[in-house]
Amino acid sequence: MANPTKIPLVDLVAQYHTIRAEIDAAIREVLERGAFILGPNVMALEEEIARYLGVRAAVAVGNGTDALLLTLRGYGIGPGDEVVVPTWTFFATAEAVSQVGATPVFVDMEPQSYCLDTERLEQAITRNTKAIIPVHMFGHPADMAPVLAVAERRCLKVIEDNAQALGADYKGQKTGALGDAACLSFFPSKNLGAYGDGGMIVTNDLTLADTLRKLRTHGWSAKYYPELLGFNSRLDELQAAILRVKLRYRDRWNERRRELAARYCALLTVRGLQLPSEALHARHIYHLFVVRTPQRDRLQEHLKAKGIGCGVYYPLALHQLAPYRQTGAAGPHLPHAEQAARETLALPLYPELDDSQLQAVVTAVRQALSA
Ligand SMILES: *Cc1c(COP(=O)(O)O)cnc(C)c1O
Repeated sequence: MANPTKIPLVDLVAQYHTIRAEIDAAIREVLERGAFILGPNVMALEEEIARYLGVRAAVAVGNGTDALLLTLRGYGIGPGDEVVVPTWTFFATAEAVSQVGATPVFVDMEPQSYCLDTERLEQAITRNTKAIIPVHMFGHPADMAPVLAVAERRCLKVIEDNAQALGADYKGQKTGALGDAACLSFFPSKNLGAYGDGGMIVTNDLTLADTLRKLRTHGWSAKYYPELLGFNSRLDELQAAILRVKLRYRDRWNERRRELAARYCALLTVRGLQLPSEALHARHIYHLFVVRTPQRDRLQEHLKAKGIGCGVYYPLALHQLAPYRQTGAAGPHLPHAEQAARETLALPLYPELDDSQLQAVVTAVRQALSA
């Protein structure tokens, strides 16, 4: 092809153009009002998201990593404690555990859903375990029933990492409403993305919510009167105003993602290519459309050469990364995640992707794998 089509992995500018008038008006309104920190848009967004998920409280913070960090801190988890974490997730899930001084204990993934393998959960739990952090990977809900059953039996907190799955359902309930607390990220490329960093904790635990409201502002119970050691981690009023506009489109956009994913699955019947699937109990919202093949590197090279964006999520599992890698033979062998790190590739998928672009991606994938 002389003039290769350029198709990005995600296109945030195309999305802006579809809602430009509303976004511009929302930004202007904040600038005219002149309140920039914990203003009316932050409060309204907290209420709107709590109502959307069907939970009692929401606390907006600076980003999704802080949402995890503050929740762990809010539950008093720290040195000497262990937290069970899937090894197949974004680094922040474990990083937050380490940053409060606790130890992440890694569990392998289940290879269809890419979520925590619940069959291996119980064996990771010790006397020191305080919490489990299931992650709804790529928009697919983790199998929560066994997680909640183990947690109840062992008196553990369940903190959902819902950074990738706002709007997904598990047995008819929204992810984020299933555990003791859940963490959201509004990083720009997430399904509900700000134009900067942002995050939130949602919970039915009003005591936790109260502690989190203190933790995000220096531990203050009243201005300049800290009750505990906290952080400075708040969502900007500007980002909240932007997110409130985008929140109105979340279901439409997630539905469009599902349509595109179904279309890809119908067209990408290529030998040796594993497509994403949806478990019986799950409604996937395709934060990423991740395919799998032993020829991943070749596929990636070919797509790049054709001007098609794609991405490796992730090149290594967490237990293989420098801060967690154990020297010698002592480290865990978590084969499903290690294999996924070699074989997975995300293809372009965002609500504004059109049919001809999707068709061009399909053609390029077929070429790469039939060569
Ligand atoms: C994005 C993400 C986070 C962190 O969110 P930030 O807003 O980038 O700090 C945490 N966990 C998972 C699974 C994520 O995808």
